[in-house]
Amino acid sequence: MSKYLVTGGAGYVGSVVAAHLLEAGHTVTVLDDLSTGFAEGVPAGAEFVEGRIQEAGRVLDGSYDGVLHFAAHSQVGESVTDPDKYWRNNVGGTIELLAAMRESGVRKLVFSSTAATYGEPVRTPITETDPTEPTSPYGASKLAVDHMIGGECRAHGLAAASLRYFNVAGAYRSREGTVLGERHDPESHLIPIVLQVAQGRRESVSVFGEDYPTPDGTCVRDYIHVADLAEAHLLALDAATGGEHLVCNLGNGNGFSVREVIDTVRKVTGHPVPEVTAPRRGGDPAVLVASAERARERLGWQPSRSGLAGIVEDAWQFAQVAHQEQGAARR
Ligand code: UDP
Repeated sequence: MSKYLVTGGAGYVGSVVAAHLLEAGHTVTVLDDLSTGFAEGVPAGAEFVEGRIQEAGRVLDGSYDGVLHFAAHSQVGESVTDPDKYWRNNVGGTIELLAAMRESGVRKLVFSSTAATYGEPVRTPITETDPTEPTSPYGASKLAVDHMIGGECRAHGLAAASLRYFNVAGAYRSREGTVLGERHDPESHLIPIVLQVAQGRRESVSVFGEDYPTPDGTCVRDYIHVADLAEAHLLALDAATGGEHLVCNLGNGNGFSVREVIDTVRKVTGHPVPEVTAPRRGGDPAVLVASAERARERLGWQPSRSGLAGIVEDAWQFAQVAHQEQGAARR
């Protein structure tokens, strides 16, 4: 059994991965500044240190076997209006984290990268050798970190994997029964927004563009269940070897349109979901679908929750719990 530092372990993906590590018998420390994460998201059994990634040096020592690095700002729109914040935190913070790892002799890293490193795809599905031309400072900051990690592997023998997520969705019930899911304030992602409409918390969902060159005119995305994603991180820890930087896409290889997502939410929840047509959102490619071939070959990863209905059912369960908790907190 091993000991891992999880940066950003109070956030959506980080908390689900931390729960998986604990359930596999590992020891986990979560470092999170709670700027967007929630303390109650840190799974029971993990040690929690409130702090920024720049402070990783005061946590890491030779007793750690590796780091899983999720702490980052991740709003594409915000990165366009406040790019400096993204360079300082996502890139500057990771420089400090890599230095702390070097100093403490921690030689394994799994990094939460993104499909946004590719920008507008040149083909579908996207493979890891396709051009990387991010269209936002967010994607550029993640790509810069991918390059930094590659250099660290070559220069200092770090064992590392960058996992490029497509559209992460769904929720995970930890062994203590806590449902860990996605919440942003304000919410900007499609599935949580459509679920809020189903709950009656929003009047309607805006469909951003119905004139894309796709079968129903709306954008197509590759939705991947957060628990499948978490499993890939544990496999990446095993697969990582000194001096190599492994880059893998994580997606199902299937695309679903915005309209299919809305229809699935109607079916799963049994609630009406009014929709309105809105203009295209700037910077949205028509289709983003992963080739997950490399993750299959190199990690032995096989997503098992690939149906949209299952993903939406789990997300719906979380949305209901989160809504009840918010109501209780207000009372
Ligand atoms: N989308 C939409 N209405 C919304 C939010 C999102 O039509 O209120 C669309 C968005 O344009 C994109 C897809 O849903 O085509 C997925 O968007 P999301 O922000 O969830 O993820 P992204 O693909 O941007 O990472």
